[in-house]
Amino acid sequence: MTFDLILKNAHLVDGTATDIGVANGRIAALGANLGTDAREVIDCGGRLVSPGFVETHIHLDKSCTIDRCACETARFPHHAMERTSAIKPTFTVEDVTSRASRTLEMCILHGATLMRTHVEVDPRVGLRGLEGVKALIEAYKWAIDIEICVMPQEGLTNNPGTDELMVAALETGATVVGAAPNYDSDRAAQIHRVFELALKYGIDIDMHLDSGNSAQELDVLLVCELADKYNYGGRVAIGHGTKLSTMPPAELDKVARRMADSGVALTVLPATDLYLGSREKDHRIERAVADANRLFRLGVNCNISSNNIQNAFTPLGDGQLIRQANMYANIVQHAMPDDLMDTWAMFTSNSARLMNRKGYGIAVGNDADMVVVDAPNPVAAIRQVAPTLYAFKRGRRTFTRTAAVLHRPE
Ligand SMILES: [Zn+2]
Repeated sequence: MTFDLILKNAHLVDGTATDIGVANGRIAALGANLGTDAREVIDCGGRLVSPGFVETHIHLDKSCTIDRCACETARFPHHAMERTSAIKPTFTVEDVTSRASRTLEMCILHGATLMRTHVEVDPRVGLRGLEGVKALIEAYKWAIDIEICVMPQEGLTNNPGTDELMVAALETGATVVGAAPNYDSDRAAQIHRVFELALKYGIDIDMHLDSGNSAQELDVLLVCELADKYNYGGRVAIGHGTKLSTMPPAELDKVARRMADSGVALTVLPATDLYLGSREKDHRIERAVADANRLFRLGVNCNISSNNIQNAFTPLGDGQLIRQANMYANIVQHAMPDDLMDTWAMFTSNSARLMNRKGYGIAVGNDADMVVVDAPNPVAAIRQVAPTLYAFKRGRRTFTRTAAVLHRPE
């Protein structure tokens, strides 16, 4: 059999040692010693070859604004949204495209091959964020598949003109509908309206939800109720959920089972939640990141993503999901091998499931979306924040990072 590409001596996520043969953008064969009859042959030397990484929750449109808008310094309340809002009138389509490209390229260089990016609309920014990011879908499809989730960051029911912009975005490129009820004067009304839009357009939902420092008034319970009512299990995700980090285990488990039963997924955003969380305190600061490992074991589809990169919400970031996973594992204090394997799923297989993507994973017939990591397995990769060396999108190499070499004396 002739291939376009052969990866020799690969170790898959489950530990299987194999060669990977690629033809016409798809994985054509797996097995020991597929030979070298291909246009391109790469010896992985026993390194991990994972399905491409997935960012389920990122904001390309307002990324890389830290040079124009200082990061949050107030303890409490924080004003990251207001600070960002203040500079939105300066966003042009070209500016958004330029900043978003920079962020996107960081993500690609760290192994992302699939992404759901939030894009906000409101009267201050109009559709410029959408237009600026939309241009990237086609321009970067050689490296990554991008879908846009439109959201009302600055309120919906209390921000005249925003609903019309949400609808306009859904008519012209957004394929997922989002929410940020914490910034709405009527949280429940926003959640109901977002379900209404999802049903009208037949699309998935991804909400910013339940950020807060106590477990009171959990909006996820309403989201579960509506997911059940409209038979939307598997099509609804929530991001943040920092309130879940404040709950005693028995209460948390009840909410987890409810989410699992209703098919509501969770994405934790460790960088943002850690940076903005627990600001009502000035000492003994809480970690503010939900224990996604615990929820995952109770059946919730749990994910880790970058969220904001280098802006007022999250001043530090580089699109490296393995680094986020490493940081997350420290925060939630789950670092046994089986925990870290679950954590690996949170930016790979779970995330493809959150986005309802079929044909994800290293199996014959699937798109050859793969990343070679400079570590023998996922556990080692997270432990040492291993760099990615190559990624492939539909079988074509998208970047190369040379593995570090020691120059020992003779
Ligand atoms: Zn977000």
